[in-house]
Amino acid sequence: MSRLDSKVVAITGASSGIGAATALELATRGAAVVLGARRTDRLDALVARIRTEGGRAEMLEVDVTRRADLERLVTLAVTRFGRLDVLVGNAGVARTAPMAALDVDDWDAMIDVNLRGVLHGIAAALPVFRSQGHGHFVTTVSTSGLKIVPTQAVYAGTKNAVRTLLEALRQESTDGVLRTTSISPGYVHTELVDHIDDPETREQAQHAMATLGISPDAVARAIAFAIEQPDDVEIGDMTIRPARQG
Ligand code: NDP
Repeated sequence: MSRLDSKVVAITGASSGIGAATALELATRGAAVVLGARRTDRLDALVARIRTEGGRAEMLEVDVTRRADLERLVTLAVTRFGRLDVLVGNAGVARTAPMAALDVDDWDAMIDVNLRGVLHGIAAALPVFRSQGHGHFVTTVSTSGLKIVPTQAVYAGTKNAVRTLLEALRQESTDGVLRTTSISPGYVHTELVDHIDDPETREQAQHAMATLGISPDAVARAIAFAIEQPDDVEIGDMTIRPARQG
């Protein structure tokens, strides 16, 4: 029996890339998964696939910039499966560009989704984790926050802010109720950079993805590894990147 057999895991940004791969990996290993994102057609297809393969899955339209949506996601997990063991705060956008371009709307979008979205998840799940006596926050941060490079100032800033949040939460929760894990992927082949507006930045990022990017399954396996540890073992930080990434 896998240690994931008894886990209930909610995942934001589950409609594509790392979130979708994580949903499949965890469901295959026996977890019940509760999936949130805005593209419900993709979530519907994923839930159908998981159920066809014998897994347990539910979905909900979630925009992480709306606090109430995270509350509804957590409530869905608790009402459908009896509790929530893990929240994977994975939804993210990477609207990277040089700062001089002053794409202030994109800065706001990254702060709203990547940072505020994770805070909304913490606000929704923390009371449930505390009343259950256990819970695990996993977030998808980035190697962008570890090695600062041009065009990624705000993106990396949001990821490092999330890393800080989880470390502070960990230090406030040494009673053993909470576990926190920050996963830092390097280049992972997903559609993330296809949404970059700045053509030059987008082309460079797409080239890096195409030549270096690893499969989102690699990150999904790392997330599964962190979750399946015994309750008294916390995987704090993990970096998963292409072996050839500089
Ligand atoms: P994708 O673009 O495939 O996935 C992004 C996910 O976030 C989608 O499911 C999208 O769903 C969701 N999302 C975006 N905005 C919102 C929102 N407002 N509310 C709810 N969901 C939202 O890219 P990845 O899988 O690569 O990205 C997943 C995470 O991994 C992100 O946090 C990203 O920053 C991080 N990451 C990715 C790396 C990479 O190289 N790919 C490297 C390091 C970190 P929808 O549009 O349906 O709402």
